[in-house]
Amino acid sequence: MNFNIERIRADFPILSREIYKRPLIYFDNAASTQKPRQVIDAIRQYYEHDNCNIHRGVHYLSVKATEAYEEARREIMQFIHARNTCEIIFTKGATESLNLVASSFGKRYVRSGDEVITTIMEHHSNFVPWQQMCIERGATLRVLGINESGEIDPGELKGLLNEKTRLIAMTHVSNVLGTINPVKDIIAMAHQHDIPVLIDGAQGVSHLPVDVQDLDCDFYCFSGHKMYAPMGTGVLYGKEKYLEEMPPYQLGGEMIKDVFLDHTTFNELPFKFEAGTPNVEGVMGLHAAILYLKELGMDNIAAYEDQLLKYATEKLSGISGIKFYGTSSHKASLISFLIGDIHPYDAGMIIDKLGIAVRTGHHCAMPLMDSLKIPGTVRASFAFYNTMDEVDHLVTAICKVKEMLS
Ligand code: PLP
Repeated sequence: MNFNIERIRADFPILSREIYKRPLIYFDNAASTQKPRQVIDAIRQYYEHDNCNIHRGVHYLSVKATEAYEEARREIMQFIHARNTCEIIFTKGATESLNLVASSFGKRYVRSGDEVITTIMEHHSNFVPWQQMCIERGATLRVLGINESGEIDPGELKGLLNEKTRLIAMTHVSNVLGTINPVKDIIAMAHQHDIPVLIDGAQGVSHLPVDVQDLDCDFYCFSGHKMYAPMGTGVLYGKEKYLEEMPPYQLGGEMIKDVFLDHTTFNELPFKFEAGTPNVEGVMGLHAAILYLKELGMDNIAAYEDQLLKYATEKLSGISGIKFYGTSSHKASLISFLIGDIHPYDAGMIIDKLGIAVRTGHHCAMPLMDSLKIPGTVRASFAFYNTMDEVDHLVTAICKVKEMLS
């Protein structure tokens, strides 16, 4: 595998800074990744040369900015292998993408007595919108459980499907357990019953090659900031047949076609779902991030991160008293754990003082924490710029935590 880690790390300026006089070790990538110089430069380039509002001007800068924005849409379409640019909606993140579908799909397709299926391992952003939509529409939210390894059982899911099921909404990769769900099989099973499937790809798209046509998912949502792009950017992929039928989510700006005193007509896809002035500079950064990922190759990224995960799992397993949450054989590169009965916040504070950023707490997955009967975990989540040497430092830090708090 052609993966020059030193060259890659040199692309990320923040990785050379120090925290508490120690080199930063950044293991909080599931919360947000760091940004390469190429992304930072794309934003600066946009503001220094091309800044203008898009879609509404005939002058040079407006046309140039619009072309660049639409070029980014084409790049994203190719990156996830969508059929058409009209299926790519820019949002401000996975949360907005998920709220958009819950609100708009709910209004169009969900009636009193209907059912929506989700799983216990969802991030709140892919749980609460469905819960609230079901409450508003008099529908029922069915929640699929997990086994001891942190995996769902497709057989159990099959048992939940019935003629009242309107949608399955599940994560591609769990942000707590790391489990990669068998989404392709689940989508095939759901489609046998004509049930559409939404995949929350917030933790998927930065770690795995994603092909929405191959998966045949009906919706796929993700955030830019978890894939080396700026905050405040995100994507909703949706099949045209659903997006066409769904009502607009927000009103105003580019989503308008004509306004009369008593009614309004709406723009075509994808603009129908893009109200107001969008985050153009963020999309320029997102475009640069995708070019960067393409250059590295998603297969190479997945293979390198898998090596990191295996190495870290083996090393951390050697620490007595450590308990892992999420032990599926099909995992993305993150590890959630507890050390004996040490509270995750206490562990996180000490690990931080050693220059290592890990995340502690419920990771916005309270229903999962309740089902596991724990207050939270310590989570180390890896990116392709992390190294085995950094993992060794984490092991030393955990031993220090034990020494101080056991
Ligand atoms: N879904 C999953 C699985 C996540 O991990 C996250 C964020 O951690 C989200 C959704 C929400 O993403 P954002 O906060 O970028 O909208």
